Amino acid sequence: MLDRKFIFENIDAVKENCVNRNLDINLDSFVELETSRRAKLQEAEELNKKSNDASKLIGKAKDDAERESLKEEARTLREQKHTAQEEHDRLDAEVLEIQKFVPNMAHPDAPIGKDDKANLKISDGKTVPREFDFDVMDHLDLGQHHDWIDFEGGARTTGAGFYFLKGDLVLLDLALQQFAVNELVKRGFTPTVTPDLARDSVLEGIGFNPRGPETQIYSIDGMDVSLIGTSEITLGGLYSGVTIAEEDLPIKLCGISHCYRTEAGAAGRASRGLYRVHQFTKIEMFAFTLPEESDAFHEDLRQIECDLFDAIEVPYRVVDTATGDLGGPAYRKYDLEAWMPGRGEAGEYGEVTSTSNCTDYQSRRLNIRYKKKDVKGTKFVHTLNGTAFALSRALISILENHQNADKSVTIPEVLRPFMGGREKIG
Ligand code: AMP
Repeated sequence: MLDRKFIFENIDAVKENCVNRNLDINLDSFVELETSRRAKLQEAEELNKKSNDASKLIGKAKDDAERESLKEEARTLREQKHTAQEEHDRLDAEVLEIQKFVPNMAHPDAPIGKDDKANLKISDGKTVPREFDFDVMDHLDLGQHHDWIDFEGGARTTGAGFYFLKGDLVLLDLALQQFAVNELVKRGFTPTVTPDLARDSVLEGIGFNPRGPETQIYSIDGMDVSLIGTSEITLGGLYSGVTIAEEDLPIKLCGISHCYRTEAGAAGRASRGLYRVHQFTKIEMFAFTLPEESDAFHEDLRQIECDLFDAIEVPYRVVDTATGDLGGPAYRKYDLEAWMPGRGEAGEYGEVTSTSNCTDYQSRRLNIRYKKKDVKGTKFVHTLNGTAFALSRALISILENHQNADKSVTIPEVLRPFMGGREKIG
């Protein structure tokens, strides 16, 4: 959430940012309501002062008549103050209702454009897409051939779009998880298994709208908790309301969780197989940093994502996400898009990771602050997140890029120690 004073004092820049993000927020109403709220606050404060002054005079009244008159005046002023305060609180809530939906400002270098077509490619990975001398299979055909992926069992058991992973693909899935966690531990991240459920207030703090229209969240009936779409939610929630000592920053967490998404309205060929599912496992990076360090830290997260996909020898490109595709909380976002040779007619790039610098947008909503030693007061930390591996799509990238003519799949060297040294599956 942006600071209310900031929005009010920079209304033209905030409006421009909403246009760049393709968002229609009623900022004129915000200004009108905030102006009235400020006036009411001043009125309530003045009435409060007058009522206090009148009360102080009661003891100095020269006779009963004057005392009664002063008492009456103080009572009337108190009532007026009470009415002004109530009116202020109503306006305050209305301002907040608009403020909550005002997106974060965008990094000045973020490409401006209304959707992902304006994303800007900034680099390629180290691995070059392979030339295949046989007919490429997509991950689903390959997975079903080996009985590694079972959507029919998932549909029977849970519902359409749910699946079972089986056999050697599970070993590959676990190898990817162990590899990523090991790499992140080497880089100072604390591995953290998080709950798969969080309070709705925490989801809202991170920037999700659990029970609103078009929500992508599964919520539990009769409880104020929902299934998480990403452990960004629980890792942020872990520090909600906490003030962190400056010397403890940055805090670097590696979240391990399932992620649940309704994916309402998303269907079709581009979502085939494991690409867009209701449940997947994700190894997530999350960090709390000093404000002045978040830009550089964001570049580090991007580099880690590149290192992980270079290590598993998957070709990818990195894109700087356009303003219209940033979502509410992100100030800047980079995505890695892996080459998936079985996707579409002749192969396509598909998003496999996403890293965002959310500056103080989430920490203001969740009230996460830091305190400098020997300095009075506290400030909001910056929060950042980034995918290490979203397992379902990381599996797609390995199955499709490392498949062989005999339908086996070569295991990338870095994963072999986690698979008993095996070089191939299938
Ligand atoms: P996000 O938290 O939306 O930025 O997503 C992080 C990563 O999770 C994406 O880059 C994808 O690799 C993966 N992902 C997102 N949604 C799905 C889904 N419905 N099914 C499978 N993987 C997903």
